[in-house]
Amino acid sequence: MTRTIPHFVGGSLLTPDAGRFSDVFDPSTGAVQARVPLASADDVRRVIDDAEAAQPAWAATNPQKRARVLLRFLDLVHRDMDSLARLLSSEHGKTFDDAKGDIQRGLEVIEFSAGAPHLLKGEFATGAGTGIDVYSMRQPLGVVAGITPFNFPAMIPLWKAGPALAAGNSFILKPSERDPSVPVRLAELFHEAGLPAGVFNVVHGDKEAVDTLLTDPRIQAVGFVGSTPIAEYIYSTAAAHGKRAQCFGGAKNHMVVMPDADLDQVADALIGAGYGSAGERCMAISVAVPVGEETADALAAKLAERVAELRVGPSLAEGVDYGPLVARSAVERVEGYIQQGVDEGATLLADGRGFTVPGHEAGFYLGPTLFDHVTTDMAIYREEVFGPVLVIARAADYEQALAMASDHEFGNGVSIFTRDGDAARDFTARVNVGMVGVNVPIPVPIAYFSFGGWKKSGFGDLNQHGTDAFRFYTKTKTVTSRWLSDTVREGASFVIPTMS
Ligand code: NAD
Repeated sequence: MTRTIPHFVGGSLLTPDAGRFSDVFDPSTGAVQARVPLASADDVRRVIDDAEAAQPAWAATNPQKRARVLLRFLDLVHRDMDSLARLLSSEHGKTFDDAKGDIQRGLEVIEFSAGAPHLLKGEFATGAGTGIDVYSMRQPLGVVAGITPFNFPAMIPLWKAGPALAAGNSFILKPSERDPSVPVRLAELFHEAGLPAGVFNVVHGDKEAVDTLLTDPRIQAVGFVGSTPIAEYIYSTAAAHGKRAQCFGGAKNHMVVMPDADLDQVADALIGAGYGSAGERCMAISVAVPVGEETADALAAKLAERVAELRVGPSLAEGVDYGPLVARSAVERVEGYIQQGVDEGATLLADGRGFTVPGHEAGFYLGPTLFDHVTTDMAIYREEVFGPVLVIARAADYEQALAMASDHEFGNGVSIFTRDGDAARDFTARVNVGMVGVNVPIPVPIAYFSFGGWKKSGFGDLNQHGTDAFRFYTKTKTVTSRWLSDTVREGASFVIPTMS
């Protein structure tokens, strides 16, 4: 009998025995290892009932006490780090060390969010008029929802939940149905840390569950991360139903390689950023843009050498650089892109199709793939491939390289490798992309700055984590207060108050 992964609702695990289910695979073997329930609209509405009932008491708990729950949660996740990372790796397919990184990056936002007592402080101005003080306060929104992708099953739920909970909201997480176990474990740990029942809930599901969250008037805000078409759909549907929404989408991150860069450093950086986690990262570098033919020829040779040495295997095996993709359909999609690249005339330097791991022939593997002479009209340049495929798109000069990154419809991350401070400074100022690295291949900002792409990579006004997240999960109330002595009588005024 296949194991069923439970929801976590109202402070307890909930395992339905009827309804719709979806298979959860072990990508390393290709075997089904569990099934996950897909909540109905009624199921989701019951979760919202619980979250709504729990929220006022949580909001009334002082922020320091809310922060202490997050601090206890940090300790519990560290205690269980290895078992969580193994569980994550077994459903996602990323390596054990990379799975620990996924969890750790989430914890860094929990650490930041534990600063809630400071982050929620408002502003105060005295003497705005005779006896008049003006101050502002940040209040929680109520019940908020997070809808998250498969590729960071710990980090992104924690990026959403940390600031939302610290600000006094209750939170409903609809994680990816492909790797749903770690979010449930995180919910259990929040409760072990002292979070009241109903404040953090995990409900599994597909479009039916998501649409219920998007349309129910009790949900005040929706934080989404996933592919661009779904991000656009979530953003417009949530807005049409009067909700706040921040929706982050796909990416095509370029790395511009200037002729003065150290090409061994560049090649190492590109191999890690292009093929780590099988390329299934929104901040993966998928396009290398060497400037000048000489740089391009030398870089292509160095990359081809390194690609031939990459070790691909089961996610929990020792010494593996990257593991399988998340699903058979993902392998087929990426193989389709590789064929399209060949058909459109790119030069295939390494072909990862048909890759198998002995003893794991049914696993979802794809070898590293490298293309050269890719042009901006090709599908493998224009579209997000989301697999272990790195393309070299040559630029004649710096201005062309800058224009390529800036003109691409995605604008998540970009980096430049150079020893020229002038070029780097010009690039950071002019490039039309949300997150920029200088000699840093994956420029994911640290937790106390904010994370968000531009153009088709992000929809909404405020970014994830950093102070933006606290703005997103709170509403500002501004109070103008005047205390008059009993003897002052000014009479009625029919003119709008001004400072004159
Ligand atoms: P996805 O869009 O398929 O799914 C994301 C979430 O949306 C899941 O919870 C899924 O159940 C739900 N969903 C899927 N189809 C839906 C529909 N029709 N209606 C309502 N909900 C639906 O994305 P994915 O494959 O899980 O994740 C990979 C994508 O996420 C990539 O495009 C990657 O670039 C992107 N991503 C972006 C960022 C970022 O910060 N910009 C970070 C991580 C991942």
